Amino acid sequence: MIDLLKKNGNFYKANIHCHTVLSDGKMTPEQVKDYYKKHGYSIIAYTDHNKYFHHKNLNDKDFLTIGGFEADFHVYDKSGTPTRLRTCHLNFYAKNPETAVMIPEPKVYNVTVINDYIKKMAENGWLCTLNHPAWSLQPTDEVVAIDNITAMEVYNHGCQTIYNCGNTINYYFSYLASGKKTFAVATDDNHCALLEDGLPDDYNDVCGGYIEVSMPELTYENFIDAFENGRFYASTGVELKELYIDEQTDELVISCSPVCRIVTRGIKYYNRPRIGSRNNDITHARIPMSEIKKMHPTYFRVELFTTDGKCAYSQPYYFDEK
Ligand SMILES: [Zn+2]
Ligand SMILES: [Zn+2]
Repeated sequence: MIDLLKKNGNFYKANIHCHTVLSDGKMTPEQVKDYYKKHGYSIIAYTDHNKYFHHKNLNDKDFLTIGGFEADFHVYDKSGTPTRLRTCHLNFYAKNPETAVMIPEPKVYNVTVINDYIKKMAENGWLCTLNHPAWSLQPTDEVVAIDNITAMEVYNHGCQTIYNCGNTINYYFSYLASGKKTFAVATDDNHCALLEDGLPDDYNDVCGGYIEVSMPELTYENFIDAFENGRFYASTGVELKELYIDEQTDELVISCSPVCRIVTRGIKYYNRPRIGSRNNDITHARIPMSEIKKMHPTYFRVELFTTDGKCAYSQPYYFDEK
């Protein structure tokens, strides 16, 4: 059996893009922890703008904080003011939060500058994700030109609830189609406040995009290992319980919370093979690998979704993967 989820223990729910009062978010780090814990999360990566924090004081046996920050790059006019015509936002996560040293961002939108910064940060122990390319108004070819990203957001809940541009799966498609590899993540990018009744304000950008990370125990080292090696899937509300190739029958086996459709996607616009229903009544499926290989010769990934648009995204599986 080839486990496409690369399970290595339990799944832990994580939001890896989060703002607090330490930048332009409205919740304190403690409020974020309380709210997300109450909603079934075990991991928050705190990624305030341009400032690195690791809130290890908030860790407990059921809750893990990851240290990080969000960097931004701008196009400027002659007076040195950002034009706001395009930007690039990257999240960085410290592989070792005790020794991590943040290198100041160059803040200039230029693919070479961005790639040099990511490379320098990687050499200093930081993992990188590319955030919300649609909100950033990045041309697809400039997204595809970015190297060495561990993952790319395919869904950003804040961009969706506030600006209706949170779904960025087509950028991800183009990135993979170019031959580059990166994992898919869904995040909240939450900025909202909690009102007196405990409910979020009208931004309502909490608990919408997340990853489920498989690891033996809830530790920082395990998270980094799982994140670097793709032991997670992205979701906006669909649970992916099993996803493996049964080598005996040569079938892809899928088990999930109820969905209306399962599609395999690769380099072609033919999203086949696929399985569908009018209602959310599919929880198991088997698809012959011969059909998948016929349509997707190099790699494929799986998307599962419901009638109301909730989705789970597997990581890509490459046939030459060991
Ligand atoms: Zn951002
Ligand atoms: Zn953000």
